[in-house]
Amino acid sequence: MNAVPTRLLIGGQWRPATDGAEFPVRNPADGSLLASVADATADDGVAALDAAVAAAAEWAATAPRTRGELLRAAFDALQQRREEFATVMTAEMGKPYAEALGEVTYGGEFLRWFAEEAPRVAGRYGPNPEGTGLMMVSHRPVGPSYLITPWNFPLAMATRKIAPALAAGCTVVIKPAEQTPLTTLLFAQLLTEVGVPPGVVNVVPTSAPVLISERLITDPRLRKLSFTGSTAVGRSLLAQAAGGVLRTSMELGGNAPFLVFDDADLDAAVAGALQAKFRNIGQACTAANRFLVHEPIAGEFTQRLTAAVKELTAETIGPLIDQRAVDGVGKLVDDAVTRGARLEIGGRAVEGPGSFYEPTVLSGVAPGSRLLREEIFGPVVAIVPFTDEDEAVRLANDTEYGLVAYAYTRDLARAHRLIDRLETGMFGLNAGVVSNAAAPFGGVKQSGLGREGGIEGIHEYLTTTYALLCR
Ligand code: NAD
Repeated sequence: MNAVPTRLLIGGQWRPATDGAEFPVRNPADGSLLASVADATADDGVAALDAAVAAAAEWAATAPRTRGELLRAAFDALQQRREEFATVMTAEMGKPYAEALGEVTYGGEFLRWFAEEAPRVAGRYGPNPEGTGLMMVSHRPVGPSYLITPWNFPLAMATRKIAPALAAGCTVVIKPAEQTPLTTLLFAQLLTEVGVPPGVVNVVPTSAPVLISERLITDPRLRKLSFTGSTAVGRSLLAQAAGGVLRTSMELGGNAPFLVFDDADLDAAVAGALQAKFRNIGQACTAANRFLVHEPIAGEFTQRLTAAVKELTAETIGPLIDQRAVDGVGKLVDDAVTRGARLEIGGRAVEGPGSFYEPTVLSGVAPGSRLLREEIFGPVVAIVPFTDEDEAVRLANDTEYGLVAYAYTRDLARAHRLIDRLETGMFGLNAGVVSNAAAPFGGVKQSGLGREGGIEGIHEYLTTTYALLCR
C-alpha cells in the first residue's frame, strides 16, 4: 500500500491539496486505515482543469496511432501488474481477490479495445443530393472532459472512461469516489510511466464532490461530463450541466430483472443467478435485482438456489462498502418480510468488525415491496413468481430503470420477443454477465444516456462536424 500515490495529479505533478487537507481511505473488511489521501478543494479542481485545457490542443493533434499505442502500452503494463492492482482494489473496495483479478482483466480490455479504435475514427465524403458540391463529415475531440466514477468497480469505471477519451484526443480530469481513490491514483501513475504526457490525465480525489463538481461543470472551458453513479446524483448533475448546455454521458442505476421460464436449464439458471446476484457482493448496476420465475418451476428454482446460497458465506463473498450500506440492505429486507416475503436463508448483518451482510434469499416477495423498486446493492435474492410471458414482461418493465435484463429459456423465438419487448439497453440470454469492452454498455429510461465500450464508446468523446465544399 505504501507504493500507491496519495496526492493529487495535476499537470504531471503530484501535489498536496491547496489547504493541505487529507481524508482517510478504509478497508471495508475490518475498518482499518489504508491511507490518507490529499483532499482536493474546488480550487484544486480548477487547477486540474487548467492543466487539461493547457494540454488539450497538443493531445488532440497527437497522431491517433500514437494515442492508441500509449493505451496499448498501458494495457501491457497493467497485465504485468495484475496482482498489485487486484490487491489495492480488494483492500479499498472489499471484493474478493479473484474478482479483483477479474476486474483487472475487464478494466484492461477497455485500454486494448480503444487502443485499436483510436486510428479507426472515420468520416464521410460524398456529393450532396443537389449535385452542386461535396459534403464532408468528420469527427473531432469534444475537448476537456470531467469524469466522475463510483466506488464499486474502481479500475473498470476509470478505464471505461479514460481509454475512449484519450483515444478520441480529449484530456481529462477524473474524480474517483471518495471510498476508493487508490486504484485510480495507481492507474494514473501507470499512465504517466508509459508516457502519457503531463496534463492529459489529472486526478482530484476529494471528500467534497459537490463543491468541486459544481465549479468544473459551470466552467465554460469544460466540454464534456461523463458520470457513473446513482440516478439521483446523475439527475442533479444533468441540471447543473444544462446551464452551459454541456455534453453529458450518464451511466446510472439499474433494477435488472432475471427471468426464468419453465423450459430453462435450471442448473444453468442457478449458476447464472449466483453470478448475476453475488458478483461484487451484489453491488453492481447490472446486478439482478428482481428474480421473476415462472410459477410451475418457482418452488424448485427457489429450493435449488437456496441450496447453492447455503454454500456461500458473508466472508467469502466479501463486505459491503460501509455500515450505511449494511443498514440500507437490512431495511429493504425487513420491509419485504413485513409485507409477507418468506425468508429462505440469511437476512441479517454479521456481528463484529467489517460491514458484512449474510447471503440472503427471499421468496414470494409482494408487489409494492421497496426492494422491487429500489436498487438493493447487496447480496439479497428477491423472488417473485409470474404466470405467463406477458406478465413477466409487464413485471420486468415495471420500473423507472432500464439497464439490463437476463432471461433463461431454451425457446429462441421467445428470446427474440423478449429482446423486442423488454425496456433495457442490454439483454443476456442464458448468461449471468453481459459486460464486454467490445459492446456498447448503457441503459434506457432513468438508467442513463450514452454508451461506454464498443465502437459507440469513442463517439461519446467526439463531436461531428460537417463542411459543404462547393465547386
Ligand atoms: P453515487 O452517485 O453516490 O456516487 C458516484 C460518484 O459521484 C462518486 O464519485 C461520488 O463522489 C460522486 N458524487 C456523489 N454526490 C455527488 C454530487 N452531489 N455532485 C457531484 N458528485 C457527486 O454512487 P455510488 O454509491 O458511488 O455508486 C453506486 C451507484 O452507481 C449505483 O446506483 C449504481 O447502479 C451506479 N452504477 C452505475 C453503473 C453504470 O454503468 N450504469 C456502473 C456502476 C455503478
